[in-house]
Amino acid sequence: MPHRNPPDPGGPLRRVTSTAVVITFALVMTACVLGLMAWKALDAKKAALASGSADIQNLVHSLSEHASHTLQAVDIAMAGMVDLLKYRDPEPDRFNKYLVETVKTLPQLRGIGVADAKGNWNYSSLPEQPRHTISDRSYFAYHRDTPDSALRISELLQSRIDEQSSLIVLSKRITKLDGSFGGVVAAAIDKDYFNRFYRTFQLGPDGGISLIRSDGTLLIRWPASDKSKDLSRTDLFSKHLKLSSVGSYKIISPFDGIVKYFGYEETPQYPMVVTVAVSEDWLLSEWWKGLRTDALVAGVLLCMILMLAALLALQFRFRNKIERALREREAHYRLLANNIADIIILIDARSLLRYVSQSVEPVLGFRAKDLTGKSCFDLVHPEDRESVKQATTRLRDVASVSTVVFRHYRADGTLAWVESKFKLATEPSDPARTEFLCVIRDVTERKRMEDELTQLNRRLTQLAATDGLTDLTNRRTFDGFLRREYETCEEISVLLFDIDNFKGYNDTYGHQAGDRCLQAVAKAIGDATANTSGLSARYGGEEFAVVLPNTTEDAALKVAESIRLTVRALGIPNTASSRGYITISAGVAGRNRSTLDEAALVGEADTALYEAKRLGRNRSIVYSSLELQYVESASIQHDDEFAPGERAH
Ligand code: GH3
Ligand code: MG
Ligand code: MG
Repeated sequence: MPHRNPPDPGGPLRRVTSTAVVITFALVMTACVLGLMAWKALDAKKAALASGSADIQNLVHSLSEHASHTLQAVDIAMAGMVDLLKYRDPEPDRFNKYLVETVKTLPQLRGIGVADAKGNWNYSSLPEQPRHTISDRSYFAYHRDTPDSALRISELLQSRIDEQSSLIVLSKRITKLDGSFGGVVAAAIDKDYFNRFYRTFQLGPDGGISLIRSDGTLLIRWPASDKSKDLSRTDLFSKHLKLSSVGSYKIISPFDGIVKYFGYEETPQYPMVVTVAVSEDWLLSEWWKGLRTDALVAGVLLCMILMLAALLALQFRFRNKIERALREREAHYRLLANNIADIIILIDARSLLRYVSQSVEPVLGFRAKDLTGKSCFDLVHPEDRESVKQATTRLRDVASVSTVVFRHYRADGTLAWVESKFKLATEPSDPARTEFLCVIRDVTERKRMEDELTQLNRRLTQLAATDGLTDLTNRRTFDGFLRREYETCEEISVLLFDIDNFKGYNDTYGHQAGDRCLQAVAKAIGDATANTSGLSARYGGEEFAVVLPNTTEDAALKVAESIRLTVRALGIPNTASSRGYITISAGVAGRNRSTLDEAALVGEADTALYEAKRLGRNRSIVYSSLELQYVESASIQHDDEFAPGERAH
C-alpha cells in the first residue's frame, strides 16, 4: 500500500509571507525616514518663519523709531523758528546763518527756508536766496488755508533747485499774533538720507523697506520701484492699519507679485507708516539649505533601506530555496522509506527505536508510531536476540554492513523471518551516541522456499546416492566413499557378497519375490554397518559390498561371517538351492602393502568371492588366505553343487 507524503506546510504561503515582510519592512522604514524628515522640515520651517517674522517686527520698529526721530528733530527746530517768526521778522543775515547752522546740525536736512504769506522765500539756508515762489506747492496752499500748527509732511517732490533730487518737505504754518497767515517754514529732507540708511539692512533680493505717509502716499521705497505711489487702497491701509498700528502678515507683494512676509508700524507722533517686506524664499533660504542636506541624508538612508530590503529579499529567497530543497529531499526519503517493501529503522545507543518507516505496517502489522521509543529487542525471538546483538557489535565503521536473519514477532503474535542489514548511522567514536541504521526485509517466504529447497536437495542427494530397491548406498557413492577412505586409512577392508543361486530363486518364485528377497538381504547387510564408520552398498544385481575403514582383514572376516549367518538365519526358502534356503557367499580383502589401490582391493575381494562360489557357496573367503586355506562356516552345512572353475556371478 503506497503511503502518501504530507503536503508541504510552507510553500506559496511562506513565499507570500516573506515578500510581505520585505515590502512591509521597506515601506515602514521609508515611511519612518520620510515622516521624520517631513516632521523635522515642517518644524524647522515654522521656526524659520517665526524667527524671520520676529526679525521683521524688530526691524520695522527700529525703522519707525528712526523715521520718527528724524522728523522730530526737524520738527523741534522748526517749532522754534515758527515761534520767533510769529512775533517779528528777524534780521535776514543772522537768521539765514541760524538756518545754515540748523542744517549743519541735522544731517537729514538738505535745506530749510521761510516763505512769506505770498510764497516768496524770505530766509533760506542756501547760500543764495531762491527766486522761485512756492505758492503753487500743495503744502503752501494747505498751510495758507488750514490754521493748524502741526508739522506737515509732503509727498515726494522734485527739487526746484537741484532737479536731480527728490525731497520730502516738512512744513509748518507761521501764524501771526493776529491769527493771520504769516507764511511757511519748510525743511527739505533728501530722499537719499533714508535710502542710505535703509540700504544697510540685508533683506534679500526681493526684500524692501517703505516709508509711507498715513494717507497711503509712498514717500520712500528701498530699493526703488516704479510701482504705484498711492497705496491707500492696499490691504495695509484698508484693513490692517485699521485694526492695529503695528503688525505683520503674509502678502503677495503689490510691487513684484512675490510672496512676502510683511511687517508694519505707524511712527509715533507723525502720520507715517514704515513697512519692511522680506520674501518667503529669503526667510527660508537657510531652511532650504538644511532641507537639502536632510534630503541628501534621507536619500542615502532610503538607498540603504532599499539595499537592506533587497538583501533581506535575497536572504528570504535563499532560505526558501534551501528549505524547499530540504523539504523535497525529505519528502523523497519519506516516499522511499514508506513505500519500499523494506522497513527502515533508526536505533539509538540505548537500543531504542528512534524512527520506524511506515512500511512496518504492511510488513509486520505494527503502526510505526506505536513502535517508536520501544526497545528493538522486544519483538525479536528470544533465541535470536544474541545473534542480533552480535550483528551490531560486529560493526567497526560507517562503511561496514552486518547482516543477520532472525525471527521477529508480527502484530498478530505469529513469527516472521526477517533479514536485517545493520549499519552505523554515526561515527563510532562516542559509544554513548552511536546510532544504527537498519533495513529489515521480510524473508519468511524466501526462508520457507530455502528450507524446502534444502530438503529437496537433501532428498535428491540421498536419492542420487541410494539404491532405489534396497535403500542401500549405490555403487557410485560406494566408489567415492571407498576412494576417500582408502586415501586416509592404513587399514581398510572390503567385503563383497553375492546371493547364491538367485537366478533359480527368481525363476522359482518370480521377479517380485526376488526383489523382496534382495531387500531382506540388503537390510541384513545394511544393519551390520549401521552406526559404524563402515558403509554398505548394493554393488549391482544381487551383489553387495561393504567398506570397513580401520578394520583388519581378520575383523572384516568376522563381520562377513556375521552377515552371512544373519542372512541364512532369515530362513528365506529357496528350492532352487540344494540347501533349501537363501544363502550368500562373501569375499573379504584387507589392504596390505602389496595392494595397489582401492580398485585392486575390490578386485581382491572379488577374487575371494569367486573362490567362495567355487568352493561351494554359503561361505566367506579371505583373499590373503587363498591357496593357503579356505574358511568354512562352522555352523552351516556346505553342499558341493558348485563345480570347480565356475564363476560365482
Ligand atoms: P550363483 O550362485 O553362481 O551366483 O548363481 P546365480 O543364480 O545367482 O547366478 P547369477 O549371478 O548369474 O544370477 C543372477 C541373477 O540375479 C540374474 C538375475 O535374474 C537376478 N537379478 C539380478 N538383479 C535382480 C533384481 O534386481 N531383481 C530380481 N528379482 N532379480 C535380479
Ligand atoms: Mg548369485
Ligand atoms: Mg551374481
